Parts: sequence; C-alpha cells; structure tokens
Amino acid sequence: MRLDKLVAELTGESRTAVKAMLANGRVFVGGEVQKDGGAKVSEMDAKVLIDGKAFAYQKYAYFMLNKPSGVISAASDPKAITVLSLLSKEDRGRRALFPVGRLDKDTEGLLFLTDDGALAHALLSPRKHADKLYFAVLKREIKEEEIARFAAGLKVDAEFTALPALLRPLTKKEKEGFCGENAPAAAITLNEGKFHQVKRMFLATGNEVLFLKRMAMGGVFLDETLSPGAYRPLTKEELFLLQNPGR
Ligand code: URA
Repeated sequence: MRLDKLVAELTGESRTAVKAMLANGRVFVGGEVQKDGGAKVSEMDAKVLIDGKAFAYQKYAYFMLNKPSGVISAASDPKAITVLSLLSKEDRGRRALFPVGRLDKDTEGLLFLTDDGALAHALLSPRKHADKLYFAVLKREIKEEEIARFAAGLKVDAEFTALPALLRPLTKKEKEGFCGENAPAAAITLNEGKFHQVKRMFLATGNEVLFLKRMAMGGVFLDETLSPGAYRPLTKEELFLLQNPGR
C-alpha cells in the first residue's frame, strides 16, 4: 500500500492534510522519517509513528457503542444525528463503517459498528441465530400467559409470527441501574430482528414497552462502564465470540 493511503486510513485525515504531515516530517516508518507519500509499505508490518504515536493497521475495525436515545442507527442522514457521528474522526478513519442492524431512535444499548460486511451479514442472518438480549420497562407486569405466548412463537399480526422467544421478569439485581425496583420490567431474548419487533410483540399481548435497551448480542454483553454515547473497540475475546457463534 502507498504510505499516503495508509496514513490517511490510520488517521482519517484528508489527502491534503496527509501530504502536509509527510512534508513536515511528522511520519516515521520503521524508525526513520519518511516524506515520500508514494513509498510502498506493508500495512500489516510497517511500524508507523505519527507525531510520536504508534498506529497499528487493522483490516477491519470493530466497535461496541452504547447507543443513546435520540440518535438514529444509520451510516448517514441529512438531518438527524447518526450513530457514526458519535465516533472520533480518528476512529472513523477513512473506513466505510456502518451499524450492525438497527435500534429504534428511542432504543438504547449495544450496537456494533464495523466495516466487516461478512461478519455483519452473519450476525444478522436469522439462520445463524445470534441471540439478542433486551431489557424493557413495561406498562404492566408480565403474565404467565404472556411468557407462554412468547415461548410458543407469538402471532404479532396477519403478516408476522415471531419465532419462539424467551421472556422473564427482571431480577431485583438487574433492575439496579436500569429502572426503579417497582417498575414492571422484563428480559427478552430473540434471534430475529424485525422492525420494532420487541415493541410489536408486547403490543400484541396488550402490554407496552416504555423503554428498551439492548444488553447483549451474539454472546457479547454491553460494557456497562460505557455511558450512553460512549464506545470502545471490541476486545479479541469479544470478536472471537462474534466470529465463532455457538462456541
Ligand atoms: N425491537 C424494537 O422494538 N426496537 C428496537 O430498537 C429493537 C428491537
């Protein structure tokens, strides 16, 4: 890869900015200053320092975001704030990152952002069964009959019957930091991702979702130290879980 292309990918800077960085001697490769943007470097092995900071090239980027309410799960939008605008310029780099699936504008919680199309496709394919765990604050307490209907595969409307899903009340411990201890609240595990699925399932049982948060997907749990709007790269272990479902 050309050095100027690599520096652009690593920093997210424009071609012009990269040209200036190189010309000003801010880029070191293998311990030597390198001013020639056309120099060929191995993106996997080159030891690149920019302003003294080491940058490691990764073929793909993987982040977990704690999506805040009010932000839409799209790569771009002419009016609304998107989940991608929450990333720093450096983390976005020049990559074509996108969210893995969608959460409603008012839903919070775990959302993966990547440029690895194959992994995203695998996670979203219903045949691969990437379980999603949601916590919901509801209008009323769940009933036994509601749990049974979720477990049997709930008929949501004339066009859509959901696959069997696990529904249970939240424990007292799970409610801590999520909702008040007397709020009706439940955990739902699904392996589909139809539009407004959780909200529509509860409406079909005469209940209503007042607040929804995704807690886990594909065996990876939301890092609870991330406040809404914060994000971090996935760890190697988390990526392994996503790449090896069922392990
Ligand atoms: N189900 C919903 O209803 N909304 C979401 O954002 C995710 C799942």
